[in-house]
Amino acid sequence: RLIAPQTANRQEDAIERALRPKRLADYVGQEKIREQLEIFIQAARRRSEALDHVLLFGPPGLGKTTLAHIVAAEMGVNLRQTSGPVLERAGDLAALLTNLEPNDVLFIDEIHRLSPVVEEILYPALEDFQIDIMIGEGPAARSVKLDLPPFTLVGATTRAGMLTNPLRDRFGIVSRLEFYTADELRTIVSRSSGLLNVDIDDAGALEIARRARGTPRIANRLLRRVRDYAEVRADGHISSPVADAALVMLDVDSLGLDLMDRKLLSAVLEKFGGGPVGLDNIAAAIGESPDTIEDVLEPYLIQQGYLQRTPRGRIATHAIWQHFGLTPPGKAGD
Ligand code: ADP
Repeated sequence: RLIAPQTANRQEDAIERALRPKRLADYVGQEKIREQLEIFIQAARRRSEALDHVLLFGPPGLGKTTLAHIVAAEMGVNLRQTSGPVLERAGDLAALLTNLEPNDVLFIDEIHRLSPVVEEILYPALEDFQIDIMIGEGPAARSVKLDLPPFTLVGATTRAGMLTNPLRDRFGIVSRLEFYTADELRTIVSRSSGLLNVDIDDAGALEIARRARGTPRIANRLLRRVRDYAEVRADGHISSPVADAALVMLDVDSLGLDLMDRKLLSAVLEKFGGGPVGLDNIAAAIGESPDTIEDVLEPYLIQQGYLQRTPRGRIATHAIWQHFGLTPPGKAGD
């Protein structure tokens, strides 16, 4: 699926790594966090200190992992990567932490999914660069304090609201990544085209950018699919009409909505009269988990003003009634 949050397979993983900008200067958009990081990184480097802990939140594919790698590269240190669900036992995290070198970056993706016991270990590590670990079992068990080198935790999460307060409070730098503008995505598509040797013009790049749900991962994914189409059905060159034809074939509509988006929106319109309708009802109607709806599908639809989140439930906006060629109830005969 085009807007799947994760990469689909190892080949796609490798391509993503290759397309990842390596330095802050090549990171497109997200002006605010870029400027902040530039200043904080320079200051930390001058003092030969670790950068303060960084929390990045925002929907999948907006560049959180990329930014974590860039922080390490700009600091001139190593990056160790793991994720919340992978760290099952306190010992898993302790092993990682005790292997860090001074000022290294530890990147924890999906940090909201850390288990409580692992989170407990993390608090003193973040605050005092120390951990308490238990040695032995039963009556002979005792706790030992270990000193850690100073390090930077970069945590990524789709929703900051899912973090416990004590964990969130331990990040000195907290940043929300925003959806990208079509112009920013066009720059990303052009840059990726250069790296992948894709023959594309500006209008073609803009067409892909416009329909990529404000998300670099989707823009890069669409670019590769449109290239396939251009090579087989056209002369290999991606113009705006070729991009459009390819995207129609991929079921990405003129607003950049894909099948899942349309399934969600049409359920809200046709099964629930445009809402308000609760998240669980939508989830049941379209066979998706409420989490996926909240993390992956909804943010873009809300940001674009197609869907509203109200205390009584989700409501479809006028724009989306129009896009589906339907008339809101009560408006018939207008
Ligand atoms: P996340 O960790 O938020 O899910 P990633 O950092 O893995 O997202 O980004 C997905 C892909 O999008 C990366 O492979 C990268 O090529 C591209 N990308 C993300 N942000 C940017 C950016 N600001 N500039 C250029 N490319 C980007």
